[in-house]
Amino acid sequence: MTLLDEVGGWIATARSIVVLTGAGISTESGIPDFRGPDGVWTRDPAAERLSNIGYYVADERVRRESWRRRSEHPAWRARPNAGHRALVELERAGRLELLVTQNIDGLHLAAGSSPDRLIEIHGTIRDTACLSCGDRRPMPEALARVRAGEPDPACLVCGGILKSATVSFGQNLDPRALTRAEAAAETCDLFVAVGTSLTVYPVARLPERALDASARLVIINAEPTQLDDRADAVLRGRAGDLLPALATGIVASDRRPLG
Ligand code: NAD
Repeated sequence: MTLLDEVGGWIATARSIVVLTGAGISTESGIPDFRGPDGVWTRDPAAERLSNIGYYVADERVRRESWRRRSEHPAWRARPNAGHRALVELERAGRLELLVTQNIDGLHLAAGSSPDRLIEIHGTIRDTACLSCGDRRPMPEALARVRAGEPDPACLVCGGILKSATVSFGQNLDPRALTRAEAAAETCDLFVAVGTSLTVYPVARLPERALDASARLVIINAEPTQLDDRADAVLRGRAGDLLPALATGIVASDRRPLG
């Protein structure tokens, strides 16, 4: 039996499965990750400043640069890939308790993952949020203003600073979303981490919580992670190959007639 078969068996029989995804599941859709070999920060370490709320609030130049990058973000052209679709299949086969994604690209929803079973724990680039009054609107409205000549569009309700509805470094996660993700991690019996370097906290603590509660941990990633030595299985490779390979057997066996 191969390791892939063994992990497939765990997925088919687990009582409760939580999947955590990171930027690596979307690289095959054309969105670079941060820390992989072609990652945004690997190629341009200064870009990390743009993800820090302190610099964003204090410096209009950082905001203008952020709006320029948002306008050109690859998410606007990206389509879900086979990895995103395999997770939809697992959900439809009744094999997914909760999908927690660190991605802000909206591709799990675009693939068909149910909003009820999905937590976009670092928010979404598809909306804007005002840092003062919290007013939230679809991102295309703000991008149209940028294209029309406003390099740093202000909130239309209160004049406050606008930002994508994403969680930057220095901003708190939505406490309800985090509590729900933590509770699911602590009560699942199988936790699968896909395409994440497991370096951004507090999300990176979720698989540790699952392990501490005696769940199995499976890591699917192109490169080593800091939790590999505690994982029950490490599948090294592309999420777009490995997730469909895992889902195919499970979805097929799930559709087999009973008896
Ligand atoms: P990361 O960049 O720190 O790590 C990504 C990991 O995925 C790397 O270890 C890399 O080896 C692996 N990887 C790359 N392509 C892969 C593939 N095809 N199959 C399997 N593994 C692959 O990403 P992270 O852990 O998610 O943390 C980065 C933070 O940046 C997150 O908070 C996330 O919100 C944000 N981010 C999001 C996007 C997005 O929305 N698509 C893109 C970049 C960064």
